[in-house]
Amino acid sequence: MKERGCVYIVGAGPGDPGLLTIRAWRVLRRADVVFYDRLVPPAVLERSAPRARRVCVEKANPMDLSDLVERMVREARAGRVVVRLKGGDPFVFGRGAEEAEALIRAGVPCQVIPGVTSAIAVPGAAGIPVTHRGVARGFVVETAHRASGEAPVLAAIPPEAGLTRIFLMIVATLETVVGQLLAQGYDPATPAAVIEWGTTPAERVWVAPLERIAAEARTGGLEAPAVLVVGPVVSLRERLKTRPLRRQARAGLRDSAL
Ligand code: SAH
Repeated sequence: MKERGCVYIVGAGPGDPGLLTIRAWRVLRRADVVFYDRLVPPAVLERSAPRARRVCVEKANPMDLSDLVERMVREARAGRVVVRLKGGDPFVFGRGAEEAEALIRAGVPCQVIPGVTSAIAVPGAAGIPVTHRGVARGFVVETAHRASGEAPVLAAIPPEAGLTRIFLMIVATLETVVGQLLAQGYDPATPAAVIEWGTTPAERVWVAPLERIAAEARTGGLEAPAVLVVGPVVSLRERLKTRPLRRQARAGLRDSAL
């Protein structure tokens, strides 16, 4: 695809700049302008797109989305390499698909560069595998947020299904989510974890039985962004906690072209 005049919809990974994909890195190096979300870590932008004009796009409501798309269309038509950089993977709760649709409707070619999603990578980097043979046969990722501010409605999945439950955007509704899981029959002793700023030097992890996880995280001063993981896989952290990924990643960034 011709590079100029194209909008790249790119995943920035969960926070650690080392978790950007090589393709994302390459396109960012060449970008003329980058429209990025609040959650994209500054370190990612500084290292990967030093020469681009960087525009922070705050949380979009439907109106902002069309403004943003209009701006991207204008930049692309002016022949610039445009990157729309979103946290994690652009198609996981990021409204990336809505933006892609609008761009295509406007006749602007776009290309999606998937990213490492926080839903899987944040637990993983904290030593919690989302599946494990004999422990969890799959996982479900849900948002705990509803645009209107109403209480979230969880998927009805009984504990016997053997699926790890993962929730994003939990900070406002953590207690409601836990209450609904208990009402679905989850044992109050089910291992649960809340991970804040996963994969970054600011990472904090709370591990507690489901019935106590909200109180523990609140006492610790929980703030966004954070992920909630519920299921027996959380117990594996005791065995799998290793050297923090971020140190390896930093070494990698120094030592290579990345
Ligand atoms: N597209 C993103 C998700 C966007 S929704 C992705 O694929 O990761 C934003 C939510 O992602 C946050 O509310 C939080 O639940 C989660 N999140 C993103 N980065 C995170 C991080 N470093 N640590 C913990 N949670 C994170």
